[in-house]
Amino acid sequence: MEEKNLEFQSELKAVPFEGLNSQEMNLIHKALGARDRSHSPYSNFKVGAAILMANGQVVLGANQENAAYPSGLCAERVAMFSAGVEFPKERMEALAVCVDERATNLPFPCGGCLQVMSEYEFKQKESLKLYLIHPTKELVYTTQSTRDLLPFSFNESHLPD
Ligand code: ZN
Repeated sequence: MEEKNLEFQSELKAVPFEGLNSQEMNLIHKALGARDRSHSPYSNFKVGAAILMANGQVVLGANQENAAYPSGLCAERVAMFSAGVEFPKERMEALAVCVDERATNLPFPCGGCLQVMSEYEFKQKESLKLYLIHPTKELVYTTQSTRDLLPFSFNESHLPD
């Protein structure tokens, strides 16, 4: 059998704040504000997240740390799990994530959060837009789907019937 390369294309845009519409800016401001709800006494690194649901509601998340370190959870997953419980039948349209101003770069979600985003995209059969924000940088990273950051995810199609 011949060797093959599995290739993929990723579309990650760096957009200035002026290039975003008012609904997008509103979601970004909610993610910025959600950082105040962070429980991060160990890292002091506050991350906020905000999800725009298809019904127009916004669900917030912030990182929640724990003295037993692995028991904490990222802002994105706090927001997604909360949205999954609060609006179980509603589609997640967009997720904005904002890091602490001390971060050196624009943020990318961790692998665990990307896997959870991918699960919800699979569940709702529609993409989840991402906005990745640093409070003092002038650009926002946007993608149309989690697939741009996690092209090869594990999902229920991989499980046996
Ligand atoms: Zn994460």
